[in-house]
Amino acid sequence: MLSTMQDGPLSLANLLRYAASVHADATVTTWTGSTTRRRTFGELGARAGKLANALRGLGVGAFDRVATFMWNNTQHMEVYATVPAMGAVLHALNIRLSSEQLVFIAHHAEDRVVFVDGSLASAFEGVLPRLRTVRHVILVNGDAAGFRAPRGVEVHSYEALLEAQPGVYDFPVLDERSAAAMCYTSGTTGDPKGVVYSHRSLFLHAMHVTTPAAMGLSTSDRCLAIVPMFHVNAWSLPFACMLSGASLLMPDRFLQPEPLLAMMEAERPTHAAAVPTIWTGLAGRLATHPQDISYLREVVVGGAAMPPTLMKTFEEHHRVKVVHGWGMTETSSVGTVAHPPAHATGEDLWRYRMSQGRFAPLVEFRLMGDNNAPVPNDGESLGELEVSGPWITGSYYSPSHEAIEADSFDEGWLRTGDVGRISPDGFLTLVDRAKDVIKSGGEWISSIDMENDIMAHPAVAEAAVFGVPDERWDERPCVAVVLRTGEPADATALREHLAESWAKWQLPERWAFVAEIPKTSVGKFDKKVLRRQYADRRLAFIHLD
Ligand code: ADP
Repeated sequence: MLSTMQDGPLSLANLLRYAASVHADATVTTWTGSTTRRRTFGELGARAGKLANALRGLGVGAFDRVATFMWNNTQHMEVYATVPAMGAVLHALNIRLSSEQLVFIAHHAEDRVVFVDGSLASAFEGVLPRLRTVRHVILVNGDAAGFRAPRGVEVHSYEALLEAQPGVYDFPVLDERSAAAMCYTSGTTGDPKGVVYSHRSLFLHAMHVTTPAAMGLSTSDRCLAIVPMFHVNAWSLPFACMLSGASLLMPDRFLQPEPLLAMMEAERPTHAAAVPTIWTGLAGRLATHPQDISYLREVVVGGAAMPPTLMKTFEEHHRVKVVHGWGMTETSSVGTVAHPPAHATGEDLWRYRMSQGRFAPLVEFRLMGDNNAPVPNDGESLGELEVSGPWITGSYYSPSHEAIEADSFDEGWLRTGDVGRISPDGFLTLVDRAKDVIKSGGEWISSIDMENDIMAHPAVAEAAVFGVPDERWDERPCVAVVLRTGEPADATALREHLAESWAKWQLPERWAFVAEIPKTSVGKFDKKVLRRQYADRRLAFIHLD
């Protein structure tokens, strides 16, 4: 029996129309370092029409890749709202990648037009001659006349381009399964891989993000998007705010703790999202420069494991609720979010809150053990997480290597490369990335658990644990530690602290005290670099007996 329901595409063109009319008074605000620039969703809709006309004038047609090389700001949001809505494919380039990785990615995606922020112009000028598919550069907040481009590439000024256009554009009816945007993995464990999102996948995912089971956004929220728009579409916040009518706060290039806190003081966000290293920086600044931030109703942390002590610092000292989530580029970002069940109290509640969280509706999950056999979701058995669903990628953007495909997909399931356990009520607890798990004498040591315990020591600001080769045990954990300024602690003291909860054979012998933990382009601990530094003998460490 067929339903009596009508049908309609889940399309970002519809989303733009909706946000610009129904939520016309919601705003996008960009921090300039001392003040703000503000625009309403209504104005954004009118400018989207001009921008679409301008892009069509430059020859942008269906599925042409339109890239951005920009900070989180209002103009970036305009590009986000317009490009998919006109049927082209949005591609936010990671501004922190090496020039080799940038060239690789922009070539692979065949980017045709690139929006470049004025403050990043010289970095982009350096790679542009090697980007053979790019035909147009549109300079935002910068001097187009001064921009050096190779022959065959036209340079435009964003505002001048828009000014010349009519505001009305007939956004097309789009097939919801067609390509809307693409992102590349940040390459923490290998070469960057491309994922292409559809209108439908972005729409469904953003709808989930707005629900209380994820970020719970509404018209009364002001959402501070610290997570960059090139990191899995800022975890869908631009689309989720357009859906829910929440206002967006954009930090532009002011991402250090001091200017971030100044923006927060001026704009009083109710919601914010960022990776743990940002929160570590903010907690450090707040410890020496106290400021009330309790206007933040909830902040979402993901992309890497949130140290429990950091979560407790925000809750107990700053009265800010921290919500932990897990996701990947391949899962459109949100796969799980750690809202505890109603019955949980006391320590039990914290266990739920500190897990990676409960799976989203529509995300199917299973754990695979040795010999590729499923293991039970009993909260104890460990396995590699596999997921599937309407916002999980089913392949990588071609042309990709067959070996990568075979390694990454298992009969319709995405192999996440993450190892963990799942409770019967659907909460995921990760112990490691498969590539980071430390196998010592045939037994596993979870680097995430060990890092969390070391970071619970009051003298420790940050700690990364990674496996290094060992003749006798195959692999042993090595620790890189950043101490809080002025805190006296040595390797023996830290190992004694660990001995309270870890077996003797698990305790690390090698301890390196460093000024900073190397980070990836999206702010995660870069264990590839740490392992390389150790192998090249560039990491000075103490060896305890
Ligand atoms: P890359 O794999 O290049 O870092 P992604 O940003 O897509 O790019 O990273 C996804 C990975 O980040 C996950 O597979 C997982 O290993 C890690 N991750 C994400 N969220 C969490 C979390 N809350 N706890 C631990 N690890 C996480």
